[in-house]
Amino acid sequence: MTTVTGTDVAQAARLLEQGAVVAIPTETVYGLAADAFNEEAVLTIFTVKQRPAFDPLIVHVRDRAQLDRVAVVPPQAEVLIDRFWPGPLTLVLPKRPAVPDLVTSGLDTVAVRMPAHTMTRALLDAVDTPLAAPSANPFGYVSPTTAGHVQDQLGGRIPYILDGGACAVGVESTILGWQQERWVLFRPGGAPVEAIEAVVGPLHVAADSARPQAPGMLESHYAPRKPVHVGDVDSLLRRFAGRAVGVISFRTEHAAHRCEVLSPEGDLAVAARHLFAVLRELDASDCQVIVAERFPEEGLGRAMNDRLRRAAARR
Ligand code: AMP
Ligand code: MG
Repeated sequence: MTTVTGTDVAQAARLLEQGAVVAIPTETVYGLAADAFNEEAVLTIFTVKQRPAFDPLIVHVRDRAQLDRVAVVPPQAEVLIDRFWPGPLTLVLPKRPAVPDLVTSGLDTVAVRMPAHTMTRALLDAVDTPLAAPSANPFGYVSPTTAGHVQDQLGGRIPYILDGGACAVGVESTILGWQQERWVLFRPGGAPVEAIEAVVGPLHVAADSARPQAPGMLESHYAPRKPVHVGDVDSLLRRFAGRAVGVISFRTEHAAHRCEVLSPEGDLAVAARHLFAVLRELDASDCQVIVAERFPEEGLGRAMNDRLRRAAARR
């Protein structure tokens, strides 16, 4: 199959209407989208990604009417929807029967969000159906933040990549679940926990497990092929002396085989925008080991630390 990259929203819409999967830009990362109500198309997502069936997808909606078609919205969700949508916040809510079990891995809940990217919002208008879309990468690997990243890994397996430029946020959405009358944090992400807690109070944090409620919680995930070590860069450089080390640093240069500084001015949002591209670059480089600095555990730093910890986890 030839994979075309372009900016033709109408073409992407036609393909989705025909039951194909299409890569779409969002403000978080690129998604691999299908009509959420077309089971065969959704199955193709799992095949293309080599994603295990126990890992459910996020449903992307255009508006409130589409949200009500897929989920039962508890009154407590309204304030979050008002404040954070469209944007990088996913809510896990009781599902409507019309949502195929394949989308939710048989769970009685559905993960749903309203994306902020203008091109994908135009696409949602054109197709007039919610789109199920996980990240557009092979299961377990680093999420794509440019159309080129998608082409590198899924080229030849999908017909079209809608090119909306580099993702503005650069890390996946924050996922919250409404469970036993409280909000549970399944995955830190593009919507800072502090901003959410300012609206709904302290979040309960879900415990990791082998069969996670959110497979973003899998111990090893978001991982490059090369070994990743996270911590104090200088001591890790001493530990790997004599090897070709690629360093990912927040704000300062380090003397190493390669060093990528994410944000010299120390802006966590800027660092998040670059993190996955840099992980891919170092993975494709001649470095033997990737060493990453731990970020301040605040704002987008939490999401970056979470992804790096899972990238470093034993496979
Ligand atoms: P991705 O877009 O690749 O980050 O994958 C979607 C994420 O949404 C996965 O990490 C899933 O765990 C999470 N997710 C989707 N549906 C549910 C659900 N019903 N309950 C909990 N997490 C979900
Ligand atoms: Mg993913």
